[in-house]
Amino acid sequence: MPQEKQVGKDMVVGLDYTLRLDDGEVVDHSAGRGPLQFLQGHGQIIPGLEKELYGMDLDEEKEIVVQPEDGYGRRNPDALQEFPRSAFPQDAELEEGMAVQLLDQQGHQHVAFVEEVGDDSVVLDLNHPLAGETLHFSIKVVTLRDATEEELEHGHAH
Ligand code: ZN
Repeated sequence: MPQEKQVGKDMVVGLDYTLRLDDGEVVDHSAGRGPLQFLQGHGQIIPGLEKELYGMDLDEEKEIVVQPEDGYGRRNPDALQEFPRSAFPQDAELEEGMAVQLLDQQGHQHVAFVEEVGDDSVVLDLNHPLAGETLHFSIKVVTLRDATEEELEHGHAH
């Protein structure tokens, strides 16, 4: 039976993907975890990827290049922030480049990277790790269905 459905707004998409950077380094992939499921047209994934998905058929594969503006944004120099050393556990061995977990005022977890360690202060880079990167996606639409009423109400896939 031919599959007539194509990716459109308010559909739940299951996507197999591999994400590489300009130098070919693989930084993320769905292999081993199962496809990424999301509600198309609700900003659940980066804009550059969502835009390219419209009209794709089930089982269709595509190579997509996403510029930083349509991905995780440009690197923001203001996202370098200084914290007192006392804001970190005393026994934490802070090293440049290491990832630390931060909680924002809404209680969401963010990953930041240690940029510089001083005697009394620590500079953290709050940019998304993929900010400024051109993203190379290899994708395949592996499942496709209409969203349920409940999913549309919630604005995400179940
Ligand atoms: Zn829900």
